Amino acid sequence: MTNSFKKSSLILTTLLCAMSLTACNKASTEQNGKAEEAKSTNDKVITIYSSRNEQLIKPLLDKYSDKTGTSIELVTDKAGPLIARLEAEGANTQADMFLTVDAGNLWQASNKGLLQQFTSPTIEKNVPKRYRDPENRWTGLSLRARTIFYNPKKVNVHELSTYADLSHPRWRKRLCLRTSKKVYNQSLIASMIYNLGANKTSHAVKGWVKNLATDVFSDDTSMLKAIASGQCDVGIANTYYYGRLLEENPDFPVKMFWANQKTTGVHMNVSGAGVVANSDNSAGALDLMEWLSSDEAQGIYSSADKEYPVNPSVEVSPMLKEWGAFLPDPINVSEFGKMQSDAIQLMDKAGYK
Ligand code: FE
Repeated sequence: MTNSFKKSSLILTTLLCAMSLTACNKASTEQNGKAEEAKSTNDKVITIYSSRNEQLIKPLLDKYSDKTGTSIELVTDKAGPLIARLEAEGANTQADMFLTVDAGNLWQASNKGLLQQFTSPTIEKNVPKRYRDPENRWTGLSLRARTIFYNPKKVNVHELSTYADLSHPRWRKRLCLRTSKKVYNQSLIASMIYNLGANKTSHAVKGWVKNLATDVFSDDTSMLKAIASGQCDVGIANTYYYGRLLEENPDFPVKMFWANQKTTGVHMNVSGAGVVANSDNSAGALDLMEWLSSDEAQGIYSSADKEYPVNPSVEVSPMLKEWGAFLPDPINVSEFGKMQSDAIQLMDKAGYK
């Protein structure tokens, strides 16, 4: 029986009681007994509020259930609505774990007090420090690299260097970008503010806007397709979107370039999770998070969506191996959240839509 069903059956009983006083005592005693029984079996249920694609994580969660006998309930929505729902539900929430993409989203949830601190030597061992919250309210579980993509017919690879260099006038009317409303770009700009300072970042973003070949895109995939079709020559995207396009068409006519290799390294972000502050099964949620960080789960979790494992002892998938090794930006990803509002303001002032 689902928790929401239990809740509605309790409400129904209360309503029936109000209508018929004689039946009331017996019914409510029975209902209390059932609620007690449900609570004890419910200890084994982990409810996840997840903004990740269900197809992507379901096989992994099923594997955990088979292994441990734990039932998992998955509630899927976008990160923003899930955070709002956790806030609205407060102490009444059914959620035990919040699973989402981007350190900016995880930071938002923890900053609103929706996640609880945990202690886990397992997660400390499996996940490098820079991909975890310094206050231990969330951890990264997979890694995504956001880098530069180009049309090899129009761009000589030697012309490419850094994200900021895409503001140079030689890229005039040649650049495509995804909207600044997407948290991925807010995190990228936050990392640039951290690495370059606000002035240089603002200069770079103003240059990007001048260099746009067309309006900003709502997603990375259509931006990459615009490079392929010749609408623009160069752009910035997460590598797994490119991986999906390559899987569909191995001859997809776009190449990848590892950005900032002589400076600060490629912008890395995480997908990750935290234990919900008002969870009634925090031990269960933490156990699942620990398992997701383990060698056993990491290979599947990261390769399912062509991401990189966050656990450095796990090998990357063959496609990612082909893309080669690169220098990642060593920044702690929690900085993206701290500087998110600065990044949004900066992009707004620079006219980046
Ligand atoms: Fe994505």
